[in-house]
Amino acid sequence: MPAVQQTDQNSGDIAERLLAHYDVHARTLPWRKLPGQGFADPYHVWLSEIMLQQTTVAAVGAYFRTFTQTWPNFAALAAADDADVMAAWAGLGYYARARNLLKCARVVVSEYQGQLPSYEADLLKLPGIGPYTAAAIAAIAFGRRAVVVDANVERVVSRLFAISTPLPQAKPHIRAATDSISPELRAGDFAQAMMDLGAGICSVRSPSCLICPIQSACAAFRAGNPEIYPAKLPKSAKPHRSGHVYWIERDNHVWLLRRDDRGLLAGMRALPDDGWTARIDGDAIPPAAANWQKLPAQVAHIFTHFSLTVNIAVTSWPADADGPGEGEWWPLKSLDKAGLPTLFRKVTEAVLNAGER
Ligand code: SF4
Repeated sequence: MPAVQQTDQNSGDIAERLLAHYDVHARTLPWRKLPGQGFADPYHVWLSEIMLQQTTVAAVGAYFRTFTQTWPNFAALAAADDADVMAAWAGLGYYARARNLLKCARVVVSEYQGQLPSYEADLLKLPGIGPYTAAAIAAIAFGRRAVVVDANVERVVSRLFAISTPLPQAKPHIRAATDSISPELRAGDFAQAMMDLGAGICSVRSPSCLICPIQSACAAFRAGNPEIYPAKLPKSAKPHRSGHVYWIERDNHVWLLRRDDRGLLAGMRALPDDGWTARIDGDAIPPAAANWQKLPAQVAHIFTHFSLTVNIAVTSWPADADGPGEGEWWPLKSLDKAGLPTLFRKVTEAVLNAGER
């Protein structure tokens, strides 16, 4: 069987059918303009695309609203305090995106007068913008023809053309196949129509082929096996790490530090730990000699490349004690404003629930 099968319709038919379906069924999203309403604000498209990288639409909505209310354009975001932006991003994960977001906003203001460039080649030079994001912005915000391939589009196209090469080797085939069906006009609507199809009808499990607007062109539907696409190599298991997180309390404050600018959760506010990373377990050496009490509860967390289980050790210090190393005493009553990443929020909850402070 060839790695890529032909559809039995021409590419124009596929785009036409998909766009007609999109005109009626487009999802309403806070960053989107519906068909016929013109192009969406480039700032909104950029912000949402960065937030949506490896994150679901449902999770992004509230963050998008907070960011656009607090920083309504590139100029406002470029002038923001780094710590405020990192705190507003807390919980969304993949924190390198937030740091690149700030860098990108500042370049857009300093080099492009606060207006995002519209060509993919220029967009690709900006921090945090890779090929997918550049194509999506060029198409959705500026109507330029671009080949936009996210995970949803990858699934739809690999089924449409029955691409049997496993990912990631299939990516060039999928891109070429997507290119072959991408129209010159309404490029942004087409990209969003493909994303919607993948997010709804052409779902990972049990695609709803009977109501699919491009069913008659779909090679996988004809073969009766859409679920086997996109083909994937068996996954290797994530490594598992263990370590400790330390809770030092003093007079209704807890000791927080700022993580290194490089590595996991770089630059984020955090509780002290014992040095675990994706590659090594923690060394169980606390940040200071003290009367540490180990909580019975452990906290589990899954990062992109490894899973982690942490033990929690707590200690209570006199009101005038200095903290260990660099950091700050943060009031317990406003811990929700500290912008702690999800792992440390889970630890905080475990400590507060244990009532061991
Ligand atoms: Fe996906 Fe089924 Fe439509 Fe093919 S027919 S694109 S498998 S929903």
